[in-house]
Amino acid sequence: MTFSIHGLPVTRGIAIGRAVLVASSRVDVAHYFVAPAQVDAEIDRVRIGRNAVVEEIQRLQLTIAQMGPKEAPQELTALLDVHLLLLNDDELVAGVKRWITERFYNAEWALTSQLDIISRQFDEMQDAYLRERKADLEQITEKVLRAMKGARTAAAPPPARSNRQRSQQDLLLGDTVDVPLILVAHDLSPSDLLQFKQGVFAGFITDVGGKTSHTAIVARSLDIPAVVGARLSSQLVRQDDWLIIDGDAGVVVVDPSPIILAEYGFKQRQGELERGRLLRLLHTPAVTLDGQKIELLANIEMPEDAPGAVKAGAVGVGLFRSEFLFMGRQGSLPDEDEQYQAYRRAIEGMQGLPVTIRTVDVGADKPLDSSLRDEAHLNPALGLRAIRWSLAEPAMFLTQLRAILRAAAHGRANVLIPMLVHASEIRQTLALIDHARAELDNRGVAYGPVQVGAMIEIPAAALTLKVFLKYFDFLSIGTNDLIQYTLAIDRADESVAHLYDPMHPAVLRLVAGTIAEGLAQGKPVSLCGEMAGDTSLTRLLLGLGLRSFSMHPAQILSVKQEILRADSAKLQPWAQQVLADDEPGYRLGPNQNSD
Ligand code: PEP
Ligand code: MG
Repeated sequence: MTFSIHGLPVTRGIAIGRAVLVASSRVDVAHYFVAPAQVDAEIDRVRIGRNAVVEEIQRLQLTIAQMGPKEAPQELTALLDVHLLLLNDDELVAGVKRWITERFYNAEWALTSQLDIISRQFDEMQDAYLRERKADLEQITEKVLRAMKGARTAAAPPPARSNRQRSQQDLLLGDTVDVPLILVAHDLSPSDLLQFKQGVFAGFITDVGGKTSHTAIVARSLDIPAVVGARLSSQLVRQDDWLIIDGDAGVVVVDPSPIILAEYGFKQRQGELERGRLLRLLHTPAVTLDGQKIELLANIEMPEDAPGAVKAGAVGVGLFRSEFLFMGRQGSLPDEDEQYQAYRRAIEGMQGLPVTIRTVDVGADKPLDSSLRDEAHLNPALGLRAIRWSLAEPAMFLTQLRAILRAAAHGRANVLIPMLVHASEIRQTLALIDHARAELDNRGVAYGPVQVGAMIEIPAAALTLKVFLKYFDFLSIGTNDLIQYTLAIDRADESVAHLYDPMHPAVLRLVAGTIAEGLAQGKPVSLCGEMAGDTSLTRLLLGLGLRSFSMHPAQILSVKQEILRADSAKLQPWAQQVLADDEPGYRLGPNQNSD
């Protein structure tokens, strides 16, 4: 039966394919594909994990058997019997094996996928007692998952890279060969998503997340249609369901009829043609009708993204989110050499174009490791995030600064500091940069010059620009956080996503003020939040005087098209009117033409 699910659009375009469900589990599990030669080793890992739990239960049963009839807890005895029964359940064992052998899922993914299927069957049971056994099944699965953590065989690849080497065609068997796959999950951490780079999936859907959550941002960098905040999608969609993702409208169509499929197939081809047309602008300089040169930069997450940014027409990297080098490593941090190599790869990948490396910005919805999420911090977005964490961990911060400075010897590099708000933080940061240089001098290690910039992403920073302009070479406006903190809207929370508004007068005034004050002081100001890649806002930002936009590479040509059609001088008075308006959203409605 065809039905649709509504969420928040993240990336443009249509994806049509079969659902691959990533079941959520209380245990943090990796999801990756294994090579066919590793299938047996993977099945072995499940067997070892399962046997360990069986033995643990049997030991407990033995202990109980040695108790006197009075002390022996009857309920526990019955429960252990049920757990053993579930562990031996054919459907569980055979299902897990199938996911591994037919789909090449890693052991943990296979186990949680099968758990998901059996759980749904339990949900549908009439008998309340049997329905409640779902909790037991979840419990034993988690035990097996934990036991498997210690049973990683030498043959199993490290999760973070494994499926990067595999193409979609390699991954599928039988009737699903060549069918695009659409990932459906309750939630995906940004580091989870990074594992899915390089074309394994044609699109993805998550139940949670806002439009500028980090999950959505990584999705944009994958350049595949995606919908986040689709509430119950992971419960409503089943493995292998046919799905259509309409990334423009934020809609998912489940089990589409042939007519709907044909309609979206047509739309998909139209989108591809439009992309093809945009490619003609690749080598056209981004200059407005009145001759203003506009800098179009790329946001990247990994050094490997740099060549793609050059190919997409970026004239540099405006934001390299270095935290992705730190995430999903079970808390261990990359050392100076590893970071130096990574920054150097990014710089060299940009072939002489500048690279702005933002110092680590973990915290909030970007935990170092999702299993290490610190539940004690009730308000992580307001907590020890970004530069606050760096200043609290000076050894870690100095390591990163030394690595960046060393990499700067290989090309043009800038350092960008996130989340600054206090003058004291600015002074401490700059002192640490000097200290890092002194350490390299002492060691006799070569390093290069860097421009140092500050992100303006907290309203207090945007309202006290003088101190930032005094100390820094350039500014970069982080509108994702600036909107979050100005409007008190958690950017990762889909339930308040309708209130997350780049056009709120308060947001526009902070953005406009930052651009104007930077211009007045002759300091470059860039904008690297998601607003920069939103073509419906390009003209307004040009009218406000913005001359440097940093966005995901996939958005560069669409934004360039807007720039080529715009006259910034004519847009200026209109932009001032929008700024003075208490309800500017209405002005940018269907007809936003100003000239
Ligand atoms: C921002 O806040 O706008 C930004 C670019 O940084 P991030 O999205 O990584 O917080
Ligand atoms: Mg930010």
